[in-house]
Amino acid sequence: MHKRVITSFGFYKCKAAFVGAFALVAIAAYLAYNSLSRPLPPYGAPRSHLILWVQNEQKLKELHPAFRLKVRAVIKDLKTRKLRPRIATAWRSPQSQADAVAAGKSKVQFGFHNITGPNGQKRAWACDIVDDNNARVTNPKFFFPLAKIAESHGLITGIRWGLSESDIRLVELSIEKEDWAGTTTMRTGWDPAHLQPIGITAEQAQKDLIKGAFVKPRDNSK
Ligand SMILES: [Zn+2]
Repeated sequence: MHKRVITSFGFYKCKAAFVGAFALVAIAAYLAYNSLSRPLPPYGAPRSHLILWVQNEQKLKELHPAFRLKVRAVIKDLKTRKLRPRIATAWRSPQSQADAVAAGKSKVQFGFHNITGPNGQKRAWACDIVDDNNARVTNPKFFFPLAKIAESHGLITGIRWGLSESDIRLVELSIEKEDWAGTTTMRTGWDPAHLQPIGITAEQAQKDLIKGAFVKPRDNSK
C-alpha cells in the first residue's frame, strides 16, 4: 500500500514537471509571437530558433492553403539538410508590389505574391525563402538545394531567371547531380529566393483556377 502511494506520487510529480515544462514553452512562444507584432526586417540579422519558427508560421498564414502545404514540405526538407530557411516575404499589397518593382526586386505589377481570396484575404502563391544565417547574401550553398527541393515538390524558384541558355544548362546540371562544388562561381538568376507554382499563371491563381498548379505543362524556366 505504502509503495503504491509513493509510486503514484512519483507519477504525479512527473506529470507536474511535464505540464510545467509545457507551460514554459507556451509562454516563451507567446512572448516571441508578441515580440513579432511589429515585423522584423525581412533581410535582417539571424533570428533565434524560436523567433524564426514564429516568423515562418506567420508568413505561412499569408499563403493559399494548397501552396502553403508545398512550402511547409520545402522548409521541412531544407531543415533535414541542416539549413535554416526563413520566409522573408509572402503576401504583398499592391503598394509594396509597386515598391518591389521600383527596387528591382520584381518585374511584374501583378504577380503570385499579390493574390487575394474572395473577401480580399491574403492568399499568396509566392514567397521568398532566404538563408537565416546569411539573409543578405546570395549563397549558392543555400539556393541550389532550395531549387532542387522546390522542384521536387512541383514548385520553381527564380534561380534561372535572366540567364543565358548556356548558363541555365550549367545551373540545371548542378541541380540534377546535386553537385554544389562549382556553384560558388556560377552565374545564377536574379531571384533565387522566390518560390512559385509551375503550372499556372498569377491571373489563374487570382481566379482560383489552380488545377495543375504543381504540374509542369510548359516552359516556365525564364
Ligand atoms: Zn518573390
